[in-house]
Amino acid sequence: MVKTTVANIGKPQLTEACPCQSGRTFGQCCAPYLAGEALPPTAEALMRSRYSAYVCEDSRYLRKTWHPTTCPPAIHFSDGVRWLGLKILETDEGKATDQRGTVKFRARFKLPTGQGQAMVEHSFFQRMQERWFYVGEVVESDKD
Ligand SMILES: [Zn+2]
Repeated sequence: MVKTTVANIGKPQLTEACPCQSGRTFGQCCAPYLAGEALPPTAEALMRSRYSAYVCEDSRYLRKTWHPTTCPPAIHFSDGVRWLGLKILETDEGKATDQRGTVKFRARFKLPTGQGQAMVEHSFFQRMQERWFYVGEVVESDKD
């Protein structure tokens, strides 16, 4: 097991644990997607790579994987927020042959004040021309 404590301070080394906490190294997991060398085959893989892109503050990748109809003109990263971890809670469809899928996940982060928080998001994904895109979200309060 690779132990991960990730701060969003640039990209991790390829041999370091992937920010998305898949248990694989960054080089074997999200790095090829962020570099445009491979396409995430499933909605979950895309979601994980987008989380890693947030950790790396890679707005180019986030825009590239955002559905054109919902993609914001600019992506702003919150100053001083450190992403601490990702957990996939639930997936529906989103497999390599599906046209749509949803992924529910929990992301933990730390505010500049040091206070830890978690968000749960239910994200919707669509596949067009062999590529998965993030379409939108339903943000729910973290009730656990
Ligand atoms: Zn990853």
